[in-house]
Amino acid sequence: MSQLKLLWELQSYVVELNDLTNKLETLNKKEEIKQIEIKLNEKEYDLVNKKTQLEVDEVKIQRYEQKLKQLAFNKEEIDQKLYSGQITNIKQLEQMEKESKDIKENMKNLENEMLDIMEEVDNLEKEINILEKEYNELSEEIEDAKNKNQELISSVKEGIKVKKNKIEEIQKEIDEDLLNKFNQLKQKKRKAVVEVVGDRCTGCHMNIPTSILSKIKSSDKIMYCDNCGRILYYNKEKS
Ligand SMILES: [Zn+2]
Repeated sequence: MSQLKLLWELQSYVVELNDLTNKLETLNKKEEIKQIEIKLNEKEYDLVNKKTQLEVDEVKIQRYEQKLKQLAFNKEEIDQKLYSGQITNIKQLEQMEKESKDIKENMKNLENEMLDIMEEVDNLEKEINILEKEYNELSEEIEDAKNKNQELISSVKEGIKVKKNKIEEIQKEIDEDLLNKFNQLKQKKRKAVVEVVGDRCTGCHMNIPTSILSKIKSSDKIMYCDNCGRILYYNKEKS
């Protein structure tokens, strides 16, 4: 293989190596996984809040039940006395009737309040079910994303190893001076070797003089662009 062709190949491997290195950097940042983790934390926060609310409501319902039991007992006591015939004092009877009625009213109010809380409990339980399902799905999603990311990282690392070996092999075949020139150009211009398309240098888009152009097309001699100084490569297979 000619020195020019070797330089051209070297450059493609260098470009591929850079791409893979950038890809590895992106994969190591795990942005996608971080996004899912944020969502997961939000769900967890929601879930904890709703579960706490549910516990509070359940305690409230217990208290209402106890209170209602107590009131029912009080009312029963009053009613028993009221209808026992033992009390004959009208005023006292009226007083007891009012007390029984008040307790009944009070119980009705408490029952309504308790029903509202029970409805809230129903809703909370449904919401918690949905949240738990979503939480589990997100956990699985994270697990999958992590595994996939790990696989990608491994394959990119493998690719980097392969490219580095190729680069090392090709570098051995290139004359030292030329390789130094290539590396200098690479540092300054990013791309050291550029293709000639038509009669233009694709590095700086300037026309190449006909005399140089014919030399480039007919030989593998190393030629530099007069304008940008890059090494010119003419792809014979393409044309
Ligand atoms: Zn040029």
